[in-house]
Amino acid sequence: MGIEWQNEMKKQQEELVRRLAELCSIESVLDESTAGPGAPFGEGIAQALTYMLELGEKEGFLAKNVDGYAGHLEYGDGEELIGVLAHLDVVPTGDGWASPPFSPEVREGKFYARGAQDDKGPAMAAFFALKLIKELGLPLSKKVRLIFGTDEESDWRDMDYYFEREKMPDMGFTPDADFPIITAEKGVADFTLTGQVPKGEAPEEGWLLESFEAGQRFNMVPDLARVRLSGEGDVFELKEKYQDYLITRRIRGYAEESDDHLTLVLEGKAHHGSEPDKGLNAALKLAEFLQELKLDNAGKRYLDFVGDKLTDGFFGEKLGLAQKDERVGPLTVNGGIFRYEVGGEQGIGLNIRYPITGDVTSIQGLLEETTKPFGFSVEVRDNKKGHFVDDHHPLVQTLARVYEEQTGEEAKPLSIGGATYARALDTGVVFGPLFPGSEETAHQRDEFIMVEDLMKAAALYAQAIYELAK
Ligand SMILES: [Zn+2]
Repeated sequence: MGIEWQNEMKKQQEELVRRLAELCSIESVLDESTAGPGAPFGEGIAQALTYMLELGEKEGFLAKNVDGYAGHLEYGDGEELIGVLAHLDVVPTGDGWASPPFSPEVREGKFYARGAQDDKGPAMAAFFALKLIKELGLPLSKKVRLIFGTDEESDWRDMDYYFEREKMPDMGFTPDADFPIITAEKGVADFTLTGQVPKGEAPEEGWLLESFEAGQRFNMVPDLARVRLSGEGDVFELKEKYQDYLITRRIRGYAEESDDHLTLVLEGKAHHGSEPDKGLNAALKLAEFLQELKLDNAGKRYLDFVGDKLTDGFFGEKLGLAQKDERVGPLTVNGGIFRYEVGGEQGIGLNIRYPITGDVTSIQGLLEETTKPFGFSVEVRDNKKGHFVDDHHPLVQTLARVYEEQTGEEAKPLSIGGATYARALDTGVVFGPLFPGSEETAHQRDEFIMVEDLMKAAALYAQAIYELAK
C-alpha cells in the first residue's frame, strides 16, 4: 500500500501544533503539595493526563485513567499489544526564558515551551500518528496502546503502579530520546558511602578540615565545591598557593578569610552524570589541591579517597570496578554528592552506570572492599538494571526499515548511558524524537522542537505503529 506518510501527516500540522500548545500550557511539574486522590503527583500533572485522555476519547479511542498514575488510549483489536510509552510530566523551568515556558510560541519554525521536546511534543506526535491510522481506515490485527506516564522526571512511581494493573505490551517504543533507534541502555545505580568523622585537631602548622561539600544530585557533575579549614597554618601562603593552582588550570574560584577559619570555593562545570569525564567536577579539583596540604588525619583520609580513587577514575579504574561490554561500552563513575563535617559524618554519593553484563551486587562488594580502609560503608540507594533488545528482533527491524524508507538515512542501532522509559517495557526501544544533528534542548531554558522535525517524527510514528500492528 503506497501511503505517503509524510504528506498525509503534513495535513495534520495545524491541528497538531494547536493541540500541542494546549497541552504545553498545562504546568505539569511534580507538586506533592497539591497531590490527592487521582492526582498522586499534583494537580498540574493530573490535568495534563486528563487532557490527553479526553482528546483521545473525542477521536473515538478507548481511554483509561489508572488512578492518575498513568493512563492509556487504545485502538485496534487482537490478542497482541503494541505499546508507545511517553510521559506528560516536565522538569521545572528555571529562569530567563525568552517567552514564558507555559505560554507556547512558534518563532522561526521552532515551537517553544517546556515539554516541547521532552516529552509532550513526542507524546502529541504519537497521538496524531494513531489518529491518522484511524482516519485512513487502515486495518490493524493487534491492539495499540498509547501509554502516558506522569513521573518519568522523578521516581518512575507511575510505571510500577501502572504495570502492576495493566498488561505489559508485547513490544513497543518510547519517543523520548534519539533517532534512529536506541536498543541498549546501561544499568544505573546510585550508591551512598557514609561514615563517622571523629572530632579532630589541626596538626602543627597545618589545617583541620572542618567541612567539605559539593553537589546536590547523584547524576550531575557538581559545579561548585566549598571547603572550610581552620588551624595555625600560614593563611597568606595558602591563599597564594590556591590562586596559583586556579590560574595554571584556568579554573575559577576564590578564598575567603574570617576570624577563625578560611573558606575556599571552586567553580567547576556541570554535566550529566552519564558522561562524568565531560564537564569539570568541582569536588575532585578542590580535593586535588587540598591533598597537597598538611591536614588532620580524618580530613586527609577523606580527601585521599576522593583524590586517589575518584579523580581521573571516571571509568571505575581506581575503584577496581573497570568493566565494559560491546553493546554499551565502559562502566562510568560520577561523584555527584560530597559531604564532610568534622565531628559529624562523611558521605559521598556515586552514580555508577554499568554494562548490560554487569551486576549491582558484585559492584557493591568491590566498592565495600575499596572504601573500607577509608571508613565508609556502602549502600545501594537506587538501581535500574541494564536494558537491551537484540538488533534482529522484529521490533528493531521494523523501526529501522520505516526510518530508512522515510528518511533515506541508515538506521544503525545506538546505545546510551542514560535511562529511558524503554526499560519500563519488557521489549522496548527508543525511537526519536531527536534527529541526528538537531539541537537537544530538553531540560534547558528556551526548550523547543523544530515544527518540521515534529511532523517528520509524527509521520515516522504513524508508519511504525501501523507496520507493527497491521
Ligand atoms: Zn523525557
